[in-house]
Amino acid sequence: MIQAKAYANMSATSKFQPITIQRRDPGPGDVVLEILFCGICHSDIHTARGEWGPASYPCVPGHEIIGRVVQVGKKVKRFKLGDIAGVGCFVDSCGKCTNCKSHEEQFCDDHTVFTYDSLELDGKTRTYGGYSSHITVKDKYVLKIKKGQALERVAPLLCAGITTYSPLKRYGTKKGKKVGVIGLGGLGHMAVKIAKAMGAEVTVFSTSAEKEKDAKRLGAKNFILTSEHKNFSKMQGKLDLIIDTVSVKHDFSPYLSCLKMDGTHVLVGVASEPNEVKASSLIRGRKKLTGSLIGGIKETQEMLDFCARKKVLSDIELIHAQQIDEAYERTVKGQVKYRFVIDAKTF
Ligand code: NAP
Ligand code: ZN
Ligand code: ZN
Repeated sequence: MIQAKAYANMSATSKFQPITIQRRDPGPGDVVLEILFCGICHSDIHTARGEWGPASYPCVPGHEIIGRVVQVGKKVKRFKLGDIAGVGCFVDSCGKCTNCKSHEEQFCDDHTVFTYDSLELDGKTRTYGGYSSHITVKDKYVLKIKKGQALERVAPLLCAGITTYSPLKRYGTKKGKKVGVIGLGGLGHMAVKIAKAMGAEVTVFSTSAEKEKDAKRLGAKNFILTSEHKNFSKMQGKLDLIIDTVSVKHDFSPYLSCLKMDGTHVLVGVASEPNEVKASSLIRGRKKLTGSLIGGIKETQEMLDFCARKKVLSDIELIHAQQIDEAYERTVKGQVKYRFVIDAKTF
């Protein structure tokens, strides 16, 4: 077993503290990473605080992982010692069902093994995420990272990047299309950058007036401050697609009214409370309300290569492990600019 340093919380209300966890020695198809950086996703907060239901403690979150390969199993061909690699939101799946075979492992019919607070395929070994010094992962679930990039700024692509890239691509984002992004946080700022890199005109909907300058710097053409209802009027019927990253319950109606006929509103933010939808806001204009969950391994690799080619990186604040609680507080208040990333040297 490999002894790894990690940061965990011990209950939904406790602070993070250092612990030691065990990672398996590499089997023939495994890769061991020495973790360099790990992003803080709002899903880490929802999970660690039990907002989606009880978590298992100790809980070691983190699914935006960049590391250096330090051990490889005998059968591993895709990686060698010293390579830079990434791990995202899941680390295994059945590999046999229709969804796994069509590269949508996040929707495995049998069992997607999420990177943390999940069980391995054996049904009993708990998974621990990237707030730690090392991780052992099956080769097929490890992503290749192009050299020469600022790696701390690549880490958030492993969740925030793929979660926004996947629906942007699925719903045809390209030059001539108009995309709305709700919430300028971790996912939101990546949605702006990726939609812009795909050629679309981007409108940001935000509760924070002070983010207007940043929204424009990140690539948005328009900024709508959502606290005043009248501000929505200039976007009525204008958008082809909306990516909704808001992490709390909110009213979809004013946003749906900004869609063109047949437009699509994609939920990626996961509020714990149910939202209400007025049927008429979908019926008039035949609008679609749908959701999206991260992306499969193949599409995640495609997104990483796209971002490397287009020089799309996350805007981050690099922190020490000892600052995780503070970073959570700021994220919940919408004060993240725009992703916290932990320097794994500090675990
Ligand atoms: P984040 O960095 O906290 O960003 C969320 C943004 O939503 C905030 O910065 C804020 O932007 C806006 N917001 C917050 N409170 C709001 C409120 N009361 N009303 C309106 N807007 C509000 O979070 P994130 O990491 O981007 O994650 C966002 C959500 O996506 C979370 O629920 C997370 O669990 C989920 N998620 C889903 C997937 C998936 O696969 N579907 C993957 C990753 C994360 P403004 O200041 O601009 O308003
Ligand atoms: Zn995430
Ligand atoms: Zn499967």
